[in-house]
Amino acid sequence: MIKKPIVAANWKMYKTPQEGVSFVSEICNLLLDKEKPTIIFCPSFTSLFYMNENLSDSGIELGSQNVYFEPEGAFTGETSVGMLKACGVRYVIIGHSERRHIFNENNTSLNKKLHVVLDNGLVPIFCIGETFDDRNARYTKMVLKEQLTKGLDGVKGQLIDRMVIAYEPVWAIGTGVNAEPKQVEDTHLQINGLLAELYATELVKQIPILYGGSVKPENAKELIEVEGVDGFLIGGASLKLELFSKIIEIVKNNYKG
Ligand code: PEP
Repeated sequence: MIKKPIVAANWKMYKTPQEGVSFVSEICNLLLDKEKPTIIFCPSFTSLFYMNENLSDSGIELGSQNVYFEPEGAFTGETSVGMLKACGVRYVIIGHSERRHIFNENNTSLNKKLHVVLDNGLVPIFCIGETFDDRNARYTKMVLKEQLTKGLDGVKGQLIDRMVIAYEPVWAIGTGVNAEPKQVEDTHLQINGLLAELYATELVKQIPILYGGSVKPENAKELIEVEGVDGFLIGGASLKLELFSKIIEIVKNNYKG
């Protein structure tokens, strides 16, 4: 089965609802009736409702950058999966390195989030990746193994095909320095191998594995041509219409599946 490539925009803490709405309406005009990868916008919570109203019928998907694992209650500042669904969200980024490193999210709470997202019919974009020190110390595989085994603990095989993994080396996020294609190829292969230790090979083949970390139009072609890369999770370059639409075009024309 040929996978459809994915281009996901992580807008982090940028763009007001008005800015988000005008960005997506311009993208929709540019891509109207064109065959395109799966495009997912992940704005901040405050924009989800408005963007959903403007995305209907466009074929473009909406994702959130986080979720809380409880259904409701006295959890000031948190957002439940039911609230996200009510705003038309289909994808949820879980375990982004900024959540892990700035907000101290750990494998145990991320595992709870993965469960709640999958149990409620949404699609997690589960982020994993090593730091610069991990890579230099040759700990990359060990770190990824721990993130995958603890993060996916208890997730049943029948749910795993509704899952997206994003490999995002922490040292490449927002730095302007992307991982080299060979590093990406080797690491995606390792991730596939680690997933195959947990699930049947036939299931693992269906899981899209994205690369994230300083993707831009200049490096998108060589990165999407890497075996095992099924698309991108993009921060900085997803905030600019010209850059983001160029990357979409590159993915569309060069993904081999
Ligand atoms: C990200 O935020 O997930 C990311 C990959 O950011 P950037 O593209 O800016 O490196």
